[in-house]
Amino acid sequence: DRTETDVTRSDALGTLQRVFGYDSFRGEQGAIIEHVVAGGDAVVLMPTGGGKSLCYQIPALVRPGTGVVVSPLIALMQDQVDALRALGVRAGFMNSTQDFEERRLVEAELLAGELDLLYLAPERLRLESTLDLIERAKISVFAIDEAHCVAQWGHDFRPDYLSLSLLGQRWPEVPRIALTATATRATHREITERLAMPQARHFEASFDRPNIQYRIVSKDEPKKQLLRFLREEHPSDAGIVYCLSRNSVEKTAEFLCRNGIEAVPYHAGLDAGTRATHQARFLREEGLVVVATIAFGMGIDKPDVRFVAHLDLPKSVEGYYQETGRAGRDGLPSTAWMAYGLNDVVQQRKLIQSGEGDEAFRRRAAAHLDSMLALCETVQCRRAQLLAYFGQEPGGEGCGNCDTCLTAPETWDGTIAAQKVLSAVVRLDRERRQKFGVGQIVDILLGRKTAKVIRFDHDQLSVFGIGEDLSEAEWRGVVRQLLAQGLLAVEGEYSTLVLTEGSGAVLGRQREVLLRKEPKKPASRGSAGGV
Ligand code: ADP
Ligand code: ZN
Repeated sequence: DRTETDVTRSDALGTLQRVFGYDSFRGEQGAIIEHVVAGGDAVVLMPTGGGKSLCYQIPALVRPGTGVVVSPLIALMQDQVDALRALGVRAGFMNSTQDFEERRLVEAELLAGELDLLYLAPERLRLESTLDLIERAKISVFAIDEAHCVAQWGHDFRPDYLSLSLLGQRWPEVPRIALTATATRATHREITERLAMPQARHFEASFDRPNIQYRIVSKDEPKKQLLRFLREEHPSDAGIVYCLSRNSVEKTAEFLCRNGIEAVPYHAGLDAGTRATHQARFLREEGLVVVATIAFGMGIDKPDVRFVAHLDLPKSVEGYYQETGRAGRDGLPSTAWMAYGLNDVVQQRKLIQSGEGDEAFRRRAAAHLDSMLALCETVQCRRAQLLAYFGQEPGGEGCGNCDTCLTAPETWDGTIAAQKVLSAVVRLDRERRQKFGVGQIVDILLGRKTAKVIRFDHDQLSVFGIGEDLSEAEWRGVVRQLLAQGLLAVEGEYSTLVLTEGSGAVLGRQREVLLRKEPKKPASRGSAGGV
């Protein structure tokens, strides 16, 4: 006699093979699907590309009724539904992009029991009319995609997600599955609480992407560094280059094209037609580079993206992981490369200060940035640091496939250098009328008699010329690391350097400062010459 579990397992596997054309389940998919098909609630933490969709699509097909999928990614619903229909799955969606007629048609299909899957935007579920509609239909499963949107501490918070807790009250007999690719331990807990899923079984896949090599280089001439990286390691490979602003997206794409690399821009300022064309080309062609803002990539499923490059610092480790995670979904060796420098720290700190949001919001943004900076400045394995951020244990010593494992960074006792910088900041701070940024501090330490130094008599300061033992790049590195470690801060319109609570201990010699040695500039090999 076959037990019930055997039956659901074979139904699920049969559906995987018959409908989706895959041989076997990946990772924990099988266990998750079995649990949900049997009526259990589940909270699933699985990295991007791990195969979350099947975890609710198959239960929706195996259980009687319609599976309701709540997703904030309205722009992707049409594509998702089209892809399912192409496989013979009866799928539909309801969101604000539809007109009355289209919506009525979907409603009729739902009520007639002719839908396997219905995708809904979260704001729809706040409407009593939608809830009534669901009440009148037979529902097989509720799937809550991008479940971290319910977490108020997260970077994607959607107030509409808070109302999803009522699903369990109103339909206690319908299993719920919440899925996310980005969740620290705290977010995971918050998801479970806010969605009111105390009975849920938790499934947590490993976040490790062993085929991705993580590298963070010191930013010097970013576009040239990028070009060198592409020419030397990824000639004619497909990849994504992320920039912060639309302007730098355009400029970088032009620059790559001028230097013989086929690249197209992608950002929210381009018209929809251009965006769609560039995205389609990226998916279809081999070896195209997309230079994009973070507007690009949500739901992009291209297995052979060989590299993801960042020319600007992401705002959080979650963002970094998600963006780099678009590389190497086929499991083949891929590179996550980032150029990072002093200006990134200054710019992001400034953005947070001058940005909107209340004090608590700013503190959270600052905490996100701090974690990202810690990843950039670490002298330990990048992968270990990433996994630890997601609350997972790294295995063994180092990964052997990140820059710090491949070439151990040297550290040095930067206490005296730090004291010099902080002393210079103190001296300048005495002149309250004037505000000075990083450049002036470095010029003073190096004893440079620039026009601006002479004009403000800064060559008369006791700290003038006390830093001739280090180069300009090294001083900028010291300032960057002090900013990253919170031993120095920026303030106001001109990014004036100011002391922090931690600075005193360094100046008072109660605290040592360990710094990462700045890498030597790679010798110009002429390959990026003339650009
Ligand atoms: P996620 O939502 O976690 O980012 P998806 O559900 O989009 O991931 O799946 C990523 C890719 O992996 C898709 O192309 C999907 O078809 C494929 N995939 C998922 N599960 C399997 C499986 N068991 N066997 C083969 N391919 C799979
Ligand atoms: Zn490593």
